[in-house]
Amino acid sequence: MIIDQKLFIDGKWEDPYSGNSISIINPATEETVATVAEGGEGDVDRAVKAARKAFEEGPWSTMDAADRSKILWKASELLMENADELARLESLNTGKPYCHPSGSRITDVPVTAGVFQYYSGWSTKIYGETNPVRGNFLNYTLREPLGVIGAIIPWNYPLLLTSWKLCPALAAGNTMVIKPSEIAPLAILKLMEILQEAGVPDGVVNVVTGYGNSAGNALVRHPDVDKISFTGGTETGKNIVRYSAENLKPVTLELGGKSPNIICADAELDAAALGALWGCFTNKGEVCTAGTRLFVEKSIHSEFLEKLLSLVETLVPGDPFDKNTSLGPVVSTQQLEKDLAYIDIGKKEAELLTGGERYDMKGYFLQPTIFDQVDNSMKIAREEIFGPVLSILQFNDLDEAIRMANDSMFGLAAAVWTNDVKKGHTAAKKLKAGTVWINSYHKYDVSAPFGGYKMSGYGRELGKHSMDHYTQIKSVFVDLNM
Ligand code: NDP
Repeated sequence: MIIDQKLFIDGKWEDPYSGNSISIINPATEETVATVAEGGEGDVDRAVKAARKAFEEGPWSTMDAADRSKILWKASELLMENADELARLESLNTGKPYCHPSGSRITDVPVTAGVFQYYSGWSTKIYGETNPVRGNFLNYTLREPLGVIGAIIPWNYPLLLTSWKLCPALAAGNTMVIKPSEIAPLAILKLMEILQEAGVPDGVVNVVTGYGNSAGNALVRHPDVDKISFTGGTETGKNIVRYSAENLKPVTLELGGKSPNIICADAELDAAALGALWGCFTNKGEVCTAGTRLFVEKSIHSEFLEKLLSLVETLVPGDPFDKNTSLGPVVSTQQLEKDLAYIDIGKKEAELLTGGERYDMKGYFLQPTIFDQVDNSMKIAREEIFGPVLSILQFNDLDEAIRMANDSMFGLAAAVWTNDVKKGHTAAKKLKAGTVWINSYHKYDVSAPFGGYKMSGYGRELGKHSMDHYTQIKSVFVDLNM
């Protein structure tokens, strides 16, 4: 059965003005599993109007913070009650394994529910301050919501990345219009049913599915949107900043990466090899923080590669719903072509150690691919591929590794593996990245800020810092002389 989905505007399921739909493909079977509405500029305008009305008239923006908190908590409970279905949609749509520890049922959905719980607590912890101003005046600040938030979501972690934006925005009393990726909107649409059941009033959260260059662009340019929160590619991010300038709306950007993963000779090599494997191949490499530049100290190069290659052989491609599958298909035919084009470049630039081809099976399955003898100036070491492709580089000492690691336009994440506490902390201090892991990889927590240096974006999601991005400060003076 093919799922048929409409737009979600003002609490109702609406047809798009265009009357057109977009086919949603299951990347594991290459078959159409759903159609979603192709929303455009007019639909975005309807959604923004609904969000504006909900913001100005309440009750969401005007209700007691404690009541908003209860609704967000209720949503977290409903998320877990619907976890099987949400995870099924996420895997069907993106190809990520369902049962694997890093997959949709064990990671994406429960972690999303945790984000709802964490920010439900923040509703009641948004404080102002009093300031020691001159004269007989009382000055205090109010921290207020911004208004209508436009959220643009990529396809790699649709549900989770939506929660990173939606939860702090709603906790502060904002309203929203969400534009999911045209490739992976299904779980986000299901989330709307959950929010409605939890008690989020009509118009507070709206979803317009559609293409980036029409629906996405209309949202970014809309004069009545107060802020854009974006996760996606760096080139798209640049366009978003350009267009959002029309009404000077603030923007937060979570963009791409080419993250370095540094293995020192004194590290626990078995643990580091596992960290290198999952650092790169989690979610088939479709992770903005993927550790795609693996720096290995020269003296352990052969030994380490042997360990890594034997681990790569344990990856099991296949049906994302099979409990043994650890490697799902690449998300789309376009992404597969992009990955293969980079692999072709890599074959000319460096030495192919393993992989490099599509698997001989239905679906967009790509072999985990590793290049050795990579130089940091090569295209495969500089550009974000966003697939299961790893580049290995060598270094003589930690200073050299850090210099090469920082020689990148990106700065999203980095890791260092060492048993020397001084080396670990020195590297953490010197690496130019928004997140640094010592002796681990892909460790995240809702209370820890996340975001990029350099061309990996600006602003921080998660933790208390996110609340700053969804609120603004008003200063109030009271004349005490009267
Ligand atoms: P994009 O940056 O193209 O897409 C991300 C989101 O932005 C999607 O919802 C997309 O819509 C939307 N969008 C695209 N163009 C515009 C526009 N002009 N105005 C407003 N919104 C727009 O990323 P892709 O999904 O195409 O992936 C391309 C690359 O981006 C990847 O290969 C990877 O390098 C990077 N990426 C990074 C991610 C991260 O987490 N940092 C996540 C995903 C991708 P639509 O999908 O409908 O075009």
